[in-house]
Amino acid sequence: MAGAIRLRQLASAAGSEISVMVIEKGGDIGNHGLSGAVVDPKTLHELFPGEDITGGLDAPVAGDAMWFLTPGGKIAAPVVPPVLNNRGKYVASLNRLTKWLGTKAEEAGADVFPAFPGQQLLWDGDRVIGVRVGDKGIGHDGKPKPNFEPGPDLLAKVVVLGEGPRGTLAKTAVAKLGLDRDRDPQVYAVGVKELWQVPAGRLGAGDVIHTLGAPLPADTFGGGWLYGMNGDIIDIGLVTGLDYADPSTDPHALFGQLKQLPAIKPLLEGGKLLRYGAKAIPEGGLHAMPRLYADGLCLIGDTAGFLNGMRLKGIHLAMKSGMLAAEAIFGALGKGDTSAAALADYETRFRASWAFTELHAARNFHAGFKNGLFGGVLNAALGMLTGGRGFGLIDKLRGHEGYACMVKITQRAPQALQHRSAPDNVLTFDKLTDVFNSGTMHDEDQPAHLHVADTKICADRCTVEFGNPCQYFCPAQVYEPHFTQNNGTVEGKLQINFSNCVHCKTCDIMDPYQIITWVPPQGGEGPVYTNC
Ligand code: SF4
Repeated sequence: MAGAIRLRQLASAAGSEISVMVIEKGGDIGNHGLSGAVVDPKTLHELFPGEDITGGLDAPVAGDAMWFLTPGGKIAAPVVPPVLNNRGKYVASLNRLTKWLGTKAEEAGADVFPAFPGQQLLWDGDRVIGVRVGDKGIGHDGKPKPNFEPGPDLLAKVVVLGEGPRGTLAKTAVAKLGLDRDRDPQVYAVGVKELWQVPAGRLGAGDVIHTLGAPLPADTFGGGWLYGMNGDIIDIGLVTGLDYADPSTDPHALFGQLKQLPAIKPLLEGGKLLRYGAKAIPEGGLHAMPRLYADGLCLIGDTAGFLNGMRLKGIHLAMKSGMLAAEAIFGALGKGDTSAAALADYETRFRASWAFTELHAARNFHAGFKNGLFGGVLNAALGMLTGGRGFGLIDKLRGHEGYACMVKITQRAPQALQHRSAPDNVLTFDKLTDVFNSGTMHDEDQPAHLHVADTKICADRCTVEFGNPCQYFCPAQVYEPHFTQNNGTVEGKLQINFSNCVHCKTCDIMDPYQIITWVPPQGGEGPVYTNC
């Protein structure tokens, strides 16, 4: 949205007619926007200089705290590290901010189309020339139903992919064009969150608390958050690194454990669950960003890894990337040349911007956590003193594929299962109840949008080697392995309840055999992340 607005601003100022179309898979703009969000407003000020930028934000940050949680209590950090000082920032709902920006984009002259899922890129050789929008009204047997509507082919001089983390179209473009050559693999986390209406006085509007420690084991990257929103609403969530070792790790169950901790429980007790959601987060930083451009193509936002894991922020960077891409595209269109050579100006502009400086200072943040929580925190502190250098004052620590960190159950017994407890339906809920609270809806009579390339691997290998971790890492109970051993052979099937899917992309990322591909379902379906 920021990129569309910037391009229309530039076109209007130059008196040129540039047509900008934004397509979105959700049924309404913002429906699929989910974040535990403290927003740095600097990009909003750049996009709307001199204007009121608070229309899409919630409360200004009133206070910061950092807690180290233990099973019995908490240790509050006497000082919050400067990098996590949120004075001047705003707590926000990404759902509401995106809606507000959607209105601004339309006012600026962009055409905004919700319920238009980009299904595949259109190519002319190695040049992207457009996007095919998914059909509506295809039955589960692949045949058109009476309400069939074919998706249009949208042709464009430049396609900008801001699909969020692990973008479906970006994945194909990066693989086809080798845009990640010589870069570290992207590594992700998954955030699971809820909104709670709580009795007055639990957390002030704009109060920001970040947590480390329990319930995550020391070898698992991540942490929690609690943000006080206007109207006595608490935004609470837990980030679990998708590079954990124990295949029985269940981010939804860990989130339940967070809410049960003695430091957290009193803040929610007597409250009411309003909304639930989950979303992957790109954590790899600068070294894991792919090349940002190709012939007729730019990658922006979470799709390109614009997220500062050390500051726990990405929205300002995602918006900035859209604006920088727009400025490069405007120049390229003016010259009548939208080749990769012309669009390389996007990367040049990025490298000259504050966004690059910020990401460069955090470039080794995530890689430091391969030594566990305390190693990661030490590495982060070292990075703050040395302009982002890692352990040994090395300029670049090596990144890693998250799924490859999973240890086979034949080598180490799963631990996480032992800590799980049944939901109490007061503070903690089962996955299906939470899916209900995400507003998720999919027509069941359509082809599944989760493609498992070879379910024989699930039966014959995964059952034995990893214990079918999809049943744990999916926060929406989509995957139900029904396999039994019979005289040395495995029988049964993997049941895929695709209509539960909250579009978090975790399965596409964390499957140990990399055989799950997430594609958009028919347009307008999926979660409705109201106020998330
Ligand atoms: Fe997330 Fe995949 Fe489960 Fe959907 S099926 S909720 S994308 S893990």
